[in-house]
Amino acid sequence: MLKSISCGALRKENLDREVTLAGWVHRRRDHGGLIFIDLRDSEGVVQVVFNPEVSPQAHSIAQSLRAEWVLRIRGKVGERPSGTVNTNIPTGEVEVMALDLEVLNPSKTPPFSVEEEAAEADELLRLKYRYIDLRRAKLRNNLVFRHKVVKFIRDFLSRREFIEVETPILTKSTPEGARDYLVPSRVYPGHFYALPQSPQQMKQLLVIGGVERYFQIARCFRDEDLRADRQPEFTQLDLEMAFVEEEDILALMEELFTDLIENIVPHKKLMKPFPRLSYGDVMARFGTDKPDLRFGMKLSDLSDIAAESGFQVLSKTIDSGGVVKGLVASGCANYTRRQLDELTSFAQERGASGLITVALDGEPSNSLDDLRQEDIRSAVARHLSLEEVRKMAVRLGAKRGDLLLVVAGTTRVADLVLSQLRHEMGRRLELADPDLLAFGFVLNFPLLDWKPEENRWDSPHNPFSSPKDEHIGLMNTDPGSALAKQYDLICNGMEIAGGSIRNHRRDVQEKIFGLLGHSKEAMQSQFGQLLDALEYGAPPHGGFASGIDRVVMLVTDEENIREVIAFPKTQSAADPLFGAPSTVDDAQLKDLHLRLRSE
Ligand code: ASP
Repeated sequence: MLKSISCGALRKENLDREVTLAGWVHRRRDHGGLIFIDLRDSEGVVQVVFNPEVSPQAHSIAQSLRAEWVLRIRGKVGERPSGTVNTNIPTGEVEVMALDLEVLNPSKTPPFSVEEEAAEADELLRLKYRYIDLRRAKLRNNLVFRHKVVKFIRDFLSRREFIEVETPILTKSTPEGARDYLVPSRVYPGHFYALPQSPQQMKQLLVIGGVERYFQIARCFRDEDLRADRQPEFTQLDLEMAFVEEEDILALMEELFTDLIENIVPHKKLMKPFPRLSYGDVMARFGTDKPDLRFGMKLSDLSDIAAESGFQVLSKTIDSGGVVKGLVASGCANYTRRQLDELTSFAQERGASGLITVALDGEPSNSLDDLRQEDIRSAVARHLSLEEVRKMAVRLGAKRGDLLLVVAGTTRVADLVLSQLRHEMGRRLELADPDLLAFGFVLNFPLLDWKPEENRWDSPHNPFSSPKDEHIGLMNTDPGSALAKQYDLICNGMEIAGGSIRNHRRDVQEKIFGLLGHSKEAMQSQFGQLLDALEYGAPPHGGFASGIDRVVMLVTDEENIREVIAFPKTQSAADPLFGAPSTVDDAQLKDLHLRLRSE
């Protein structure tokens, strides 16, 4: 190699040794006589000194060095003079006195600084010059963590007799609720492959094929509108097992994620065992099926109190089939008019017609029994009776000094708005312990969701999930109340994994497709391969998938998914480095039997 040791590896043990280093100029300081550079490689930086009395040749070249030039340096490791030790870096006790310097490649002035302390550059610029961005310690660290996570998973599952099997990228539509990415076929005019939204059907076919323990670090593709934690292509740990029940998969997931966190980020805290929550309870208490469990601030239903209210906004909502729900922002009774207006806009931007805020003045130790009309501060105070406010406060578990936040609307809107208000207030009040990873299982999902616009049932997760055994009959009588053998793993407000026990009997699977509105012909053309396979000795089976990008976000405390992916796409699904997507030439289109429509 061009180097004998890594820059970042040098320590006092290496004193007086002659070493050859190779790396990038991180920083350069010219102190008249002496020139100092920080030389960086993938393991870290070390200070190199050029002294004209030691090596006039090296010193003279060093005068022209600039950031990001690539160098090879032969030098001697010395102790830094006392008072110049840098305790912030692991190599801070030593420096290398340069004897020889070779410039392996100069660099243009980079579009942004690689130094971590420098202000973060514009993200588009960072993505366009990703190869420079990746030199930054933070991104490099994230990639290392990603590698460790994936390696840990592979080792963990290999020890448990799972085998990793690759499934095709060019395949047929595998619906997981998103739009497909399509690839036109050259050989079959007018025909298309679809990129897999997940290897769901493939993994079921593998298990039917006798692979009793399958996993894959699988790339999945979904053409959806992007959000902060989504990418058009992303990586899942995909897993499936034969001869299992829900409990077996839950135990495996709990062990995998516990071991992973304890090994990779041992300073993080876990709640053990992972709490198990029912979908119905979670929705009622948090308004979302992926709540951040690190803090309380639960939602309460105030509909019965609202129904009796003289305030028509409340009573009319209940009369028209809606709900009134609320939560308590502890200690926020002193919020200013401006802060309250901000919360109201926050609620309105998310679909609420308004936000009712009620501040309860007084000391937390004052009893609610002594609450007087003048202790209630609210824009709608004159519409609310003292007794009614007291009842709401008791229901919500509020104290004097707290602020009640109440939303009236449809269940969907009230839950959405309050769950996001809860998240926002949790953030403002710093209620979540940043070192806690609060995993939890959500169980007992409904098998089906009614879609009034389309007058049909939909499957909230995927259509392959099995109903609970005792609910198979309900599919004929009351499909909406059938529960599925479906489970999600959530952590700190994110869905980390999801899976189910699948239908291994054709009649049950067909029944579900029927409820989803598929004709027999449509079922056969879209899912024939799976349906047919179910008739050739399909064992009971189930599994899960987990988003690797999100797991890496958890262990690196990143809030932006693009920080844990080497070459991510932008929020608008573009790749600024390669310039993808791009137009192609006519010959390519012709080969694919495609002609573009003019808009
Ligand atoms: N295929 C599902 C998904 O991608 C996960 C599973 O049920 O295994 O979300």
